[in-house]
Amino acid sequence: MNPCIREVRAKAVLSKSGIPGRKYCINPYVGCAHACRYCYATFMKRFTGHAEPWGSFTDVRVNAPEVLRRQLRRAEKGNIIISSVTDPYQPVEGKYMVTRKCLEVLALYDFPVDILTKSPLISRDIDIILKIKDAEAGITITTDDERIRKIFEPAAPPVPARIEALKRLHEAGIRTYVFIGPVLPMNPRALAEQIRPYAGSVIIDRMNYTDRTRWLYRQYGIEKWLDEEFTGRVVSELAGRLGGKRQCQIV
Ligand code: SF4
Repeated sequence: MNPCIREVRAKAVLSKSGIPGRKYCINPYVGCAHACRYCYATFMKRFTGHAEPWGSFTDVRVNAPEVLRRQLRRAEKGNIIISSVTDPYQPVEGKYMVTRKCLEVLALYDFPVDILTKSPLISRDIDIILKIKDAEAGITITTDDERIRKIFEPAAPPVPARIEALKRLHEAGIRTYVFIGPVLPMNPRALAEQIRPYAGSVIIDRMNYTDRTRWLYRQYGIEKWLDEEFTGRVVSELAGRLGGKRQCQIV
């Protein structure tokens, strides 16, 4: 299915964030072509006028960099997450580069910036991330198992490509973290081994969006992953393998 891409103009792009520990968020796009089955951001659809299902449209906020520059001039200092309800490096960023242009603006101001994505496209912007005084980059990795990734995150980049991006960010000297959320069916030992060398810190979030995905667990015979006690043990194992000197936060 060809995604519907529409150019829109935003009135504001630096918004108050509802995420604990993050004062602001920037969403260069509305909608997300990664189409995760558990996506928590589907409520954004009602602000768009799109009739297409979530995952099949993206609105590009083409004037985001100039609006951001105007807002940053007046804004109180505070940390910023990019993004909270979209993926800033979904495929359309390859052409429009709205996230990159926003990062170029951010490099001129003194706001701590946290960039979170599932896409290896972030490594294109290592040069500009290095120019931001206080920047960290997070890669979301929810499983080590490509079969599971294809079920729950059908249009998001493969897990090995995300791990490669994490490695490149780490080797470039950028502060990195891995966001493991939601915890999908996985081999916790295999996942921990792959990310441990490159993750400066880890956040594990079980996120209970199982109402949307319960049928998928049943369809693929992986219902045991709906059991809270079972997933609790997996979370403990992940934390045990990834903790130690590294900060490992369970939220
Ligand atoms: S990458 Fe994030 S915003 Fe995009 S569909 Fe997946 S969960 Fe939703």
